[in-house]
Amino acid sequence: MIQVRQLRKVFGENEVLKGIDLHVKKGQVICIIGPSGSGKSTLLRCLNLLETPTEGQIQIGDVTLHFDGRKVSEGEKRKLRAKTGMVFQGFHLFPHKTALENVMEGPLVVKKEKKQESKEKAEQLLKKVGLWERKDAYPSQLSGGQQQRVAIARALAMEPEVVLFDEPTSALDPELVEEVLKTIKELAQEEQTMIIVTHEMSFARDVADQIIFMDQGQIVEQGSPEEIFVQPREERTKQFLAKFL
Ligand code: ADP
Ligand code: MG
Repeated sequence: MIQVRQLRKVFGENEVLKGIDLHVKKGQVICIIGPSGSGKSTLLRCLNLLETPTEGQIQIGDVTLHFDGRKVSEGEKRKLRAKTGMVFQGFHLFPHKTALENVMEGPLVVKKEKKQESKEKAEQLLKKVGLWERKDAYPSQLSGGQQQRVAIARALAMEPEVVLFDEPTSALDPELVEEVLKTIKELAQEEQTMIIVTHEMSFARDVADQIIFMDQGQIVEQGSPEEIFVQPREERTKQFLAKFL
């Protein structure tokens, strides 16, 4: 369902992604691990075009875009972006909107859905992430874990083909991490396609179909959780994982 071919991203002199190839099947969960600065966030940001790739190809579902320095039209970008939902480290909710309004916003504004329809869907999604009873709360009245679950519901409201998570629990107090990981695990059980950048190794081992280890703008190694965590082949992978023992 997702095919990335030879994706490169250059910032000035800095080649941050050095030819990434990635294939994701429908319903798969991919966890990306790797040291800080290795290009994980940039890869996710390229997938939803928050950054424009320098070169390469991205296909998600029936939309394929080629990048070669020529300008990609806003219309094409919008089509690809509509296939993805993104959940950031720092929630990024609208502070002056309630939980329910935050989840309704995308479908109302971007998809031009009817108010009643988007409200019903948003309520369902808040139920799903365990926050129905908090639907009228503002972000400042919610814990970090609750805010992140609202952010997940908001990403799902757009019915994306893939949800991208960039370190979804890194900004949370330790006692709030588990509720967010549990929500993501439930989505995995429903076969929601997801790409998750995370430092939570035991979570990654549990939830992922494939683990990707990135370093210095490249995929160093990719495999099942068994292969990566139990029998990594590459020295760099071993060294990275040793820090989590
Ligand atoms: P990670 O998420 O793995 O920590 P990033 O993708 O955030 O890594 O960053 C990879 C490299 O790209 C870093 O060297 C970072 O400084 C650089 N970088 C990221 N975003 C930008 C940007 N907008 N402009 C210039 N350099 C950037
Ligand atoms: Mg990052």
